[in-house]
Amino acid sequence: MEVELTNAPKGTKDLMPKETALFRYLENEFLKVASSYGYNEIMTPVIEHTELFSRGVGSGTDIVQKEMYTFKDLGGRSISLRPEGTAGVARAYVQSGELSKAKPVKYSYVSSCFRYEKPQSGRQRMFHQLGIECFGSKEVQADAEVIMLASDFLNNLGLKEITLTINSIGCNKCREKYKEALVKYYESVSENLCETCKIRLNTNPMRLLDCKEDECTKYSSDAPSILDFLCSECANDFSKLQELLTNAGIQYEVDPRIVRGLDYYNKTAFEFIHENIGAKATVCGGGRYDNLINTLAGIKEPGIGFGIGLERLMLAIDSENIDKSISTSPEYVIIPAGENVPHEKIYAIAKMLRNSGKTVVVDIMNRNFKSLIKYANKINAKYALILGEDELKNEAVTVKNMASGDQRTVKISELVNSQETI
Ligand code: ATP
Ligand code: MG
Repeated sequence: MEVELTNAPKGTKDLMPKETALFRYLENEFLKVASSYGYNEIMTPVIEHTELFSRGVGSGTDIVQKEMYTFKDLGGRSISLRPEGTAGVARAYVQSGELSKAKPVKYSYVSSCFRYEKPQSGRQRMFHQLGIECFGSKEVQADAEVIMLASDFLNNLGLKEITLTINSIGCNKCREKYKEALVKYYESVSENLCETCKIRLNTNPMRLLDCKEDECTKYSSDAPSILDFLCSECANDFSKLQELLTNAGIQYEVDPRIVRGLDYYNKTAFEFIHENIGAKATVCGGGRYDNLINTLAGIKEPGIGFGIGLERLMLAIDSENIDKSISTSPEYVIIPAGENVPHEKIYAIAKMLRNSGKTVVVDIMNRNFKSLIKYANKINAKYALILGEDELKNEAVTVKNMASGDQRTVKISELVNSQETI
């Protein structure tokens, strides 16, 4: 296949400096909120053994069947780029021995993820997840905490058009009976379903509720509800969760059609949906996965967590016109007036200001005075620091406010504390 060398691969996107500023802001805010709940950051590899995902995420899922970037490395191992964050974190939890720490053990992460999907707005082949995982508690208080954390983070950002929907997808016991009812319901309309769902009907009928094809979505509203099939433990847990959320002042809707696209989930499933970012509106998806560690390591260890799509979050922020723009313009440009300004003087002033946390641009284009002033204007610098012979003699600089044009001579020794007054 012929490729255009100046185009990034399909479904990937460059983040230019304006966007990385927002990316880092969101990442930092997320890690701060997570840490305020006692979740500490973990970093796991971008590559994992393919089997971690085929067994962990589930061989019948879209992710494993159609979306993974899988290749043989030079040693003949089958390796995959991670399509989601949870399986790798669960693996690291077991491998590190942190499984034997005082429970619960709580992690946060920011991970790049890769899925070979049809790219569209909010759906890329490389994207990022902000996530947390909480291991070791099977209590519903853990579910409430995880949802509360996501809610705090999204609210703190100022997002208003986000709805939380919750569901319980029960345990294996509840699901057996539910699946029978679901298959019975969908069999009567099976010839109208999309090709994938025709297959899912035999392999993984709950996935039918999750299908985004038009011909399938119209059947999901009349499908039997999992909530009518919950065993007493799952039903109790689900109503306790609702009570805890209400006590925490968190609004939610119950939606029995949320099943989540990964095999490892049980009981609580939830999504935060943004109403204004198109069809792919799920900004955050999460739930309980009490069988994942058992599948990977043969150890019974409950877990719950969520993943927030960072790119979708950026779309949501954009759609609500929330201004999180961070300036990429420098505060100072140092402008020598004349040929005889020693470099060491320029470097010393730049260093002093940079050490006090300011952004300082020094000419590296050999521009003259006039074109440096023009340049300072163009890049929206706040101040020009003009350094001529008179200034040099007096150990001073002329500080020019680029917006107002006001200027004042300031002793170099007083520069760090003086800029607000000009
Ligand atoms: P969807 O139903 O939209 O395909 P999903 O159920 O596959 O989402 P999860 O596996 O639960 O998504 O991932 C958690 C979050 O990661 C999603 O809610 C979404 O915000 C984000 N996400 C998932 N896939 C992509 C993608 N291809 N591009 C961008 N963000 C994504
Ligand atoms: Mg998906």
